[in-house]
Amino acid sequence: MDEMKKATREQSKNHNKTLILNSIYTAQTISRADLARETHLTRSTVSEIVSELIEEGLVEEAGLGKSAGGKPPVLLQLIDDARQLIGIDLASGEFRGALVNLRGEIQEWICIPIQEKSGDAAMEDVFTLIDQLVQKATSPIIGIGIGAPGIMDSVRGVVRMAVNLDWRDLPLVEILQDKYTLPVYIANDSQVSALAEYKFGEGEKEDNLLVVKIGRGVGSGIVIGKHLYQGDSFGAGEIGHIKVEEGGIQCRCGNYGCLETRISSRAIRNFAVAIAEENQDSSLYQLKEAKHPITTQDVHEAFLAGEPKIKEFIEDVGAYLGRALSFVVSVLDIHRIVISGSVSMFGNGIIEPALRELRGCALSTIADDVQMVTSSLGEEIVILGAAGMVLHNELGIL
Ligand SMILES: [Zn+2]
Repeated sequence: MDEMKKATREQSKNHNKTLILNSIYTAQTISRADLARETHLTRSTVSEIVSELIEEGLVEEAGLGKSAGGKPPVLLQLIDDARQLIGIDLASGEFRGALVNLRGEIQEWICIPIQEKSGDAAMEDVFTLIDQLVQKATSPIIGIGIGAPGIMDSVRGVVRMAVNLDWRDLPLVEILQDKYTLPVYIANDSQVSALAEYKFGEGEKEDNLLVVKIGRGVGSGIVIGKHLYQGDSFGAGEIGHIKVEEGGIQCRCGNYGCLETRISSRAIRNFAVAIAEENQDSSLYQLKEAKHPITTQDVHEAFLAGEPKIKEFIEDVGAYLGRALSFVVSVLDIHRIVISGSVSMFGNGIIEPALRELRGCALSTIADDVQMVTSSLGEEIVILGAAGMVLHNELGIL
């Protein structure tokens, strides 16, 4: 057979294998006959590929199904722990990594505190994190996924710019692939969060989805037509630097009045300190007097206690978010918005004013159907999304 034909045959076989694996993944248990019906492949192709998947240890037979008259069919299922994925989150106050199984269940979790480390020192921490995870693996690892802050060229595997880590044009994928001889994938932390929410999040699975991550930085990830949309320069979703206030505070990007300067966890703490200084009856004033650094959690407690100045201020945080999102929603017409990151702890405290503002700033036919919820994936969102990238790229799942 000539090379061309061989390559084409190989390609269509891989395609069929992905189809079958996806059907088994989604169905939980399924018979060979139902697989053939669902994938429109012949019974013999299905049998051949299923045998391969069983041999590779990815799929197993799981008893008999209901008979439709004749012999009851043998059911097949995915072996959830057959492989492990490494998910890494470099966007939090610490470096976090986990071993995740094929269902997105976290099986080992490690974090390394970072003390203002950057450049080569940060790279060393990434090695330490991955070394430890590799040692703890209980099944073959199929790849490493990384979510990091900044602009990540996912195609070339290069960190174009990660200000917090002081990385510029760093060929991260090549470095890690050489060291671990495993496939490696990178993307921006907010974009990865959108993947996590799409693959593992609760609620109805919509084709389009916007996930906003509000923590130390502010960004968003956009899923359009079931696929992550990264834009022409991998910067899609960088809403943190939309101007929401004339004048305003100078942002770390150099401009003034960016969304990030009003709603990031850092901004919230800074404003809360200023409020505490002027309000001696605030619980935050006492913390300040006791020389405790005020955390986002402290601000949240003051908010829950109903302190009027804090409530007012959090309402403004929501309104600024809503204003920025009105642009996004007007351009993309996405109905489902999920809020993640540490600031999502304020829940309806920011969601209600955000929706109000959004509806006041965008066409009602689009804005009225927007639903905003907080993510159910918590602190693990970036790790899960990073692992999801590996699952998608290596096994074609979801
Ligand atoms: Zn900015």
